[in-house]
Amino acid sequence: MPSCAGKGSEFRVPDRMPGAQLGGDMEFANPFEAEGNWYRGNLHIHTTESDGIHTPDQAARLYRDRGYDFICISDHHRVTSVKNKPEDLLIIPGAEMGRGPVHVVGVDVSAGFDAQGMKLQEVIDRINGQRGMAIIAHPYWSAITSAELAGAEGYAGFEIFNNVCNNIKGKGYSTVHFDEVLQSGKRILGFASDDTHCEKDLFGGCIMVKARSLEKECIMDSLRKGLFYSSTGMSISGLEVKEGKITISCQASESVNFVGYGFMGNLVCAEAGATLTRAEYQVKGTEKYLRIEITGKSGLKAWTNPMFL
Ligand SMILES: [Zn+2]
Ligand SMILES: [Zn+2]
Repeated sequence: MPSCAGKGSEFRVPDRMPGAQLGGDMEFANPFEAEGNWYRGNLHIHTTESDGIHTPDQAARLYRDRGYDFICISDHHRVTSVKNKPEDLLIIPGAEMGRGPVHVVGVDVSAGFDAQGMKLQEVIDRINGQRGMAIIAHPYWSAITSAELAGAEGYAGFEIFNNVCNNIKGKGYSTVHFDEVLQSGKRILGFASDDTHCEKDLFGGCIMVKARSLEKECIMDSLRKGLFYSSTGMSISGLEVKEGKITISCQASESVNFVGYGFMGNLVCAEAGATLTRAEYQVKGTEKYLRIEITGKSGLKAWTNPMFL
C-alpha cells in the first residue's frame, strides 16, 4: 500500500524538495526523478449541474474513454457527484467558487459555496478552511492583475492555460502573469485545464502527474508538491539537472524555451525543417527561477513547473 501524505491545511511549496539540486541552490520537485507512475488529469470541468452540457456521468465517461486517469468536476458553487463512475477513473471532489471576475477552483473540497461579493483572498481562505487546494482560474480572462496574484496568499497556483477561455475569447494563456508573479519571488505552480462546458472544450489542457498510485491522497500529495507538468498536447519524457546544466527530453518540437527572470533564459529553436527532442541550458546563477516551455509544430505546448534558484 503506497503511503502518501494526508491533506495539508494550506498550500505551500516546500523549501526543500527531494528533486534535483544545483550546488544546493536550485529547488524544485522533479517529477521525472520521483517514484511512481504518470497519470493524466483535468481539474476543471462543468456539467449539467451548473452550466455545462454533459451530465456528470457523461463527462466522466468522456474523459475515461479518452484515457484520462483522474478528473475533478468543478461545477459553480457546488460539489457534483457522479452516479456511475467509470472503473479506473479517480474523481476528486471539487467546485469553482466565485462570481464576477474572481473564480477559484477548490480541488478536494467537501462543499461548494456562493462567493458573491467575496474578495480573492477570502475565497482562497474559505477553500483552505476545508483543507482543499485553491487554484485561481483563468487570470487573463478574469482580468486579475499580476499584482493581485502576487499579493494573494495560500493558493497552489493558477491556470496558465484554460481551454474554454482560449476558445471563446482568445484569452487562454496566462503565462505572462505566471512570469510576473514568479518574478515577484512567489513560489506557485502552473496548471493547464479544459474548463469544459461543451464539446469543443474537451481535451485541450491537461496535467500529467507523477504519483505513487491512483488514489486521491497520492494524487493530491503530488499536486501540492508540484510533481506534474501541464500540456495542451506535447509530452515531456525527461528532465535532469546536473552540475549546473538542465537537460530536457520531449516529443519532437519546434522550440524549447528556458524562461527565467526578465531577459534571463534562452529560446532553443529547431533547425529549419528539423525538430528538437532534447535541449540543454547552462544555468548562470542569476535567473532567480527557470521554467521550461515546449512548443510543437501546431502550437501545442507543454510547461514544466518552475525551478527556483
Ligand atoms: Zn471560471
Ligand atoms: Zn469554470
